[in-house]
This record gives sequence, structure tokens and C-alpha cells, in this order.
Amino acid sequence: MKASKESRDGKEGKEEKKILKKFEKAEEKEVRFKQTLRALPDGVVLMSQDWEIQWLNPMAERDLQLDAVADIGKKIHTCYPDGDFLNKVTSGDDTLQTITLEGRIIEIRVISAGSKYRILVTRDVTEQKRSEDFRRDFVANVSHELRTPLTVIKGFLELAEDWPLNSQQLKHLELMYEQVERMGALVNDLLTLSRLERDSAPAAKEPIDLTALLTDAAVDGRFISQGHHSIVVDHIEKVNILGDIIEMKSAVTNLVSNAVRYTPQEGSIVVSSFFNDEGLVISVKDNGIGIAADAIPRVTERFYRVDKSRSRETGGTGLGLAIVKHVLFRHQARLKILSELGKGSDFQIILPKDRVEKIV
Ligand code: ADP
Repeated sequence: MKASKESRDGKEGKEEKKILKKFEKAEEKEVRFKQTLRALPDGVVLMSQDWEIQWLNPMAERDLQLDAVADIGKKIHTCYPDGDFLNKVTSGDDTLQTITLEGRIIEIRVISAGSKYRILVTRDVTEQKRSEDFRRDFVANVSHELRTPLTVIKGFLELAEDWPLNSQQLKHLELMYEQVERMGALVNDLLTLSRLERDSAPAAKEPIDLTALLTDAAVDGRFISQGHHSIVVDHIEKVNILGDIIEMKSAVTNLVSNAVRYTPQEGSIVVSSFFNDEGLVISVKDNGIGIAADAIPRVTERFYRVDKSRSRETGGTGLGLAIVKHVLFRHQARLKILSELGKGSDFQIILPKDRVEKIV
């Protein structure tokens, strides 16, 4: 009997030890986990489903002006009487949002962690935004300042055409004129880009007749081509786009102009439109030089050109697709590029359904 009691006690003791070890391990894990979270450059607030603050790291204290001792156990609502921040935190939206708190710009994201917790992740982007603003304003100011001298130089070059010049001097004059035109185009594109970047609000929703938009772009394309390409408008959906007319015109014209510039003479360009699951697709398809697969994701970067000399020869600024991308972003639309080296490209603008209205 004694022996069996001892063995039972021994068993229970072992069980107890096991459980204790498990607890210790769990505690160790929690400590390690919290230490890791503490070292993160991002703020982390752990909350219950009903928004009670359970834990936060030092970065969250700084970003959200909270106190790890005083505010734990409080509902986050009680820490911020101001509505805007709270609305964003409690909206149920798990995408990245931006708030301003005491003059700082903070990006926040709230995610559900299982059925019990919510995690609020924060990042102070004030300095990053400031340097982006500085860069954008600097580029815009320089571009703006360059406009006047360029206009003056261009005016004198035009006057000089009437001077009694020999053929070599005339050739030099022509070259100068060409370069001044290029600089003018660059300055205009830089100004357009900085204007688009500054305006973070969604684009207006003016009705734009798709037929007029596509046929006008084709007319511009024929002008650039000077009769060297076949440019046809194939199918046009009977719809209005709801957007900013100047921006949408510039996006479509940029794509048509590129199709002409990167398609050898005698090539063909087809502009068309159709609906798919995502919305309205405007396609500008060419059978030109095409783009290698690894370069496709990079062509919308500023000044990225697959072939620098070809881009310059054809009057490119290297900013066309960056402008298109920004315009589309402001319209909640996207650019899809299908291309094969040596065979041609299909640049597709995909507009969401709420940016399109059927004409009845
Ligand atoms: P660029 O002024 O150089 O044309 P873009 O931003 O419009 O600047 O285009 C960036 C680069 O993408 C171009 O230099 C070219 O290499 C490539 N590209 C754009 N459109 C086409 C096209 N339709 N076919 C082949 N390459 C293209």
C-alpha cells in the first residue's frame, strides 16, 4: 500500500513539475515576445475586442501619446476625446490610415488577432513626409523658375531664324531649338507630376465621353506618327468615365504617344475598350518593340527607360508613365502592362465600376 501511495505521490509530483515547466515556458515565451515587440521600430498596442488597452510598447507610447502605466486597462476611447482618430481606429477598416496627433503624422493599422484581441500598429512618418514634401516643392519650384528663361531663349531662337545665317549656323540653331523644346517638355512634365503628387484627394468625377476621349487620343497619335503607322479605334463602350478630363486625356494620350514612339514605321496601334470583372478596360495595343519581362515592373518609375537613346530620340522625357500611374491612382484605377519583347505591348487602364456610367 505504502509503495503505491508513494508512487502516486511521485506521479502527481511529476505532473505538477510538468505543468510548472509548461507555465514557465509560456511565461518565458511571453517575456521574449514582449521584448521583441519592445525593440520594434513600430508602435504596437494590444487591445481586447472591446477596445480595452492590454499592453503597449514604448514606440506606441510615443506615437500615440499614451502612458504604459496609467493607460493600461482603459478603453482607448477614453484616451482620445477627439473624434477623427477614434473614428479611424474603430472603423473596422484594416488598411493603412493616416492620422495627425499633436502635429505629428502617424500611420496606423488595426488588425484583429483571433477572436479576443485587436492589435493597433503605428508608425511616425512625420520626417519622411516632410522630406517628401521638401523634395516635391523643390522640384516644383526649380521647374517653375526654369519656365521664364526657357521662354526667353525660345523667343530669341525664333527671331534668329530670320537672320542671314549660313547652312551650318542654321543647323546649330535648329539643334538649340530642339533642346530648348525638350527642356520645356521636361519642365512641364515635372510640374504636372508634382501637381498630381500634391493633390492627395481623389480625382473629380466629371462625366467624360469615352468615344471623344479615345478618338481624340487617336488623332493626337496620328499627328505624332505623321502617317507612318496605322492607328485605329476599335471597340468603344457607350459610357462616360467619371473623372478629371485633363488628367484622363493626358493618361490616354501618353499611352498612344508611347505606342507610336516604340513601334517601328508601318506598325499598327489599336485603341479599344471593354468590360471585365474589375471594371472598364481601355487598351492601347501596339505591335512594336515590346518590353523584356524584367523591365515591365520598372517602366512606371521616373526616368526609367529601357533604351535611353531611343527615348530621347523620340522626344521622351522619361516621365510619361509615371504621370499615367499617378493619374490612375487618383482615379482608384490601375495600369496593367502586357508586353513581349519584339512582339509588342498592350497597356491597359482598368477603371473601377464606380468611375464609369452607362450612357442611356
Ligand atoms: P519615355 O519618355 O522614355 O517614353 P515613359 O515613362 O513614357 O518615358 O516610358 C518609360 C519607358 O517605358 C520608355 O523609355 C520605354 O523604354 C518603355 N515603354 C513605354 N511605352 C512603351 C511601348 N508602348 N512599347 C515599348 N516600350 C515602352
